[in-house]
Amino acid sequence: MRAVDLIIKKRNGAQLSTEEIQWLIQGYTNGSVPDYQMAAWAMAVVLKGMDDRETTDLTLAMAASGDQLDLRDFAPDAVDKHSTGGVGDKTSLVLGPMLAAVGLQVAKMSGRGLGFSGGTLDKLEAIPNMRIDLSEDEFRHAMREIGMVIMGQTADLAPADKKLYALRDVTGTVECIPLIAASIMSKKLAAGAKSIVLDVKVGAGAFMKTLDQARDLARTMVRIGQLAGRNVAAILSSMEQPLGLTIGNALEVREAIETLQGRGPGDLVEVCLTLGSHLLVLAGKAQNLDDARQQLQASLDNGQAWAKFREFVAQQGGDLTVIDQPETLPIAPIQISLLAESSGFVQRIDAETCGIVATELGAGRARKEDAIDPAVGLVLERKVGEPVQAGEALLTVHAADQQRAEVALAALKSAITISATSVEALPLVFESVA
Ligand code: URA
Repeated sequence: MRAVDLIIKKRNGAQLSTEEIQWLIQGYTNGSVPDYQMAAWAMAVVLKGMDDRETTDLTLAMAASGDQLDLRDFAPDAVDKHSTGGVGDKTSLVLGPMLAAVGLQVAKMSGRGLGFSGGTLDKLEAIPNMRIDLSEDEFRHAMREIGMVIMGQTADLAPADKKLYALRDVTGTVECIPLIAASIMSKKLAAGAKSIVLDVKVGAGAFMKTLDQARDLARTMVRIGQLAGRNVAAILSSMEQPLGLTIGNALEVREAIETLQGRGPGDLVEVCLTLGSHLLVLAGKAQNLDDARQQLQASLDNGQAWAKFREFVAQQGGDLTVIDQPETLPIAPIQISLLAESSGFVQRIDAETCGIVATELGAGRARKEDAIDPAVGLVLERKVGEPVQAGEALLTVHAADQQRAEVALAALKSAITISATSVEALPLVFESVA
């Protein structure tokens, strides 16, 4: 075979066979297919698309390009959760312990922040001494002992995706549903969980800006997972405004702790209960979604989810005294509030702008090698639909110095709109796909 023929075939709108896709991915992984041919092929896919069979073949070929974890001997029913990325999304920190508290085995390989959206590993590292780089033995031990791990990728998972993702990032080929679906699902399949729930974010602060796009991505990923023999469901949830009240690593850990102690914001709790209920049903631990929701709510009410979070932090070396006194988590020296200029109701809090501003404050990275400042970020004092009086705080900027705080405040002014008349709260969970 020749790569150029496969590029031309796709450019002309034809379907590639399973063997052709496998050949291309193997060649790209071992270096015999160069970046420039892979980039041309990716662009042909963006323009001509791929059908379900081709997308599944691509996913399986990328999953098979490196290690594939076999959890059968120590975590045969492991579950995993994936979010397509959002602002203020600390769901994994809350949902992981809730699921483990009701008896599921949670094996989660998480990522770092990407662009304006935060990453679970960066949030966990706001906890002093917390380790996210477990060895395979430590991973097995933690799964057996407490039934829960959240860590970075140890094994060489889906190296073809790693290469292709970096290439897509610089060749205008990220926004393409078959390529995004194959990228996400290749990593999920290689990580070995039997049941997977996908949180596909929709709106201003998400990759998918419209419900139609999100639905298409969700359906594609669910089908791939099912064809690969896994139990998979997806929910579509709003990322029009940030999730919960905080954006920034230590701030989000503090909010996750409050949520696990039963004092969480309604939208965060709701997303956790919805995702978790689907996972309990998929894993056969609940008869139906109502039964699942009751089990998960009970784990918050009876303190077991909080107790599991403490076990998880201790297991991965984190400092429990800090977790038990969250006020000792890193705190930014400068805190300044953005005040409402008029009275009314909050109509819009642009999630993408909030994510970009938090990243610029130091909560995320502009370049891969940048260090994160765990203390900085934003705290929303109002959510969409809530009333506010002129002069009251809309949000508070937590910054390392005065100058950065002022730049952030200036950028945030246009991110929030106030309406003189009442505004309906935004919908949160749109639908599920199974
Ligand atoms: N996340 C991924 O892992 N891959 C994509 O292509 C997009 C988002």
